[in-house]
Amino acid sequence: MGKKILIVDDAAFMRMMIKDILSKNGYDVVGEAQDGAQAVEKYKELSPDLVTMDITMPEMDGITALKEIKKMSGEAKIIMCSAMGQQAMVIDAIQAGAKDFIVKPFQADRVLEAISKALD
Ligand SMILES: [Mg+2]
Repeated sequence: MGKKILIVDDAAFMRMMIKDILSKNGYDVVGEAQDGAQAVEKYKELSPDLVTMDITMPEMDGITALKEIKKMSGEAKIIMCSAMGQQAMVIDAIQAGAKDFIVKPFQADRVLEAISKALD
């Protein structure tokens, strides 16, 4: 069985892209969430091995969701998905316990490298 991944992004297209990369490489995408509040709920429900977390989302942004999840589970492994110009938010996320970050548009190699390192 592959490692369980939860994908969080408000854009269905982005979720689809990551899901495609991960399922082709032996990971088990167990759930998807489209905002931070949903991400926290799904994390509780699914206990994934790793979460890919978008930063800019409605309801609750990815940084807040990261902090909420880390409060529940200090061991949670979360990789942030950032866009250009979000360096300050990425630093904030790393300080709050994010394992790594990947930058849009996603490159499959970089996504897989970040995830396998974070799960190591
Ligand atoms: Mg977004």
